[in-house]
Amino acid sequence: MSETNHVICASCGSINNVPVSRMGDNPVCGKCKKPIMNGHPVELNEAGFNRFVSKSQQTLLVDFWAPWCGPCKMMAPVFSQAAGQLEPQFRLIKINTEVEQNLAGRLRIQSIPTLAIYKNGKEIIRQPGAMGQSDLISWARSHA
Ligand SMILES: [Zn+2]
Repeated sequence: MSETNHVICASCGSINNVPVSRMGDNPVCGKCKKPIMNGHPVELNEAGFNRFVSKSQQTLLVDFWAPWCGPCKMMAPVFSQAAGQLEPQFRLIKINTEVEQNLAGRLRIQSIPTLAIYKNGKEIIRQPGAMGQSDLISWARSHA
């Protein structure tokens, strides 16, 4: 038996068991047959966020943002491109704090953008403020 990771499908939210050795081979979802990871951040609501944090065995890099936030808008393409570089080690997740106010309150998100890394169901670090692409990637990898 090879070791597997629980990986959540970007399209349908199903949990797939992906052999660790196949993580980089663009695995396809057993349920919806779409790529489990598509090189883009996954936009989640509170329930989806809870599911990723509790079930995903990938490290999560989360961008807490809002539509009215200028630095968030500037960082959006940076974050999007970083997904292509950080998958499959990481999953990049976006939380719109204007919509998900309950979640942002529960997590005490005090400024946006805030970037946070979750591993094994726990937040391990958070960093307020926008980052450039190379800073974002090296910061993420240093906490992988
Ligand atoms: Zn799927």
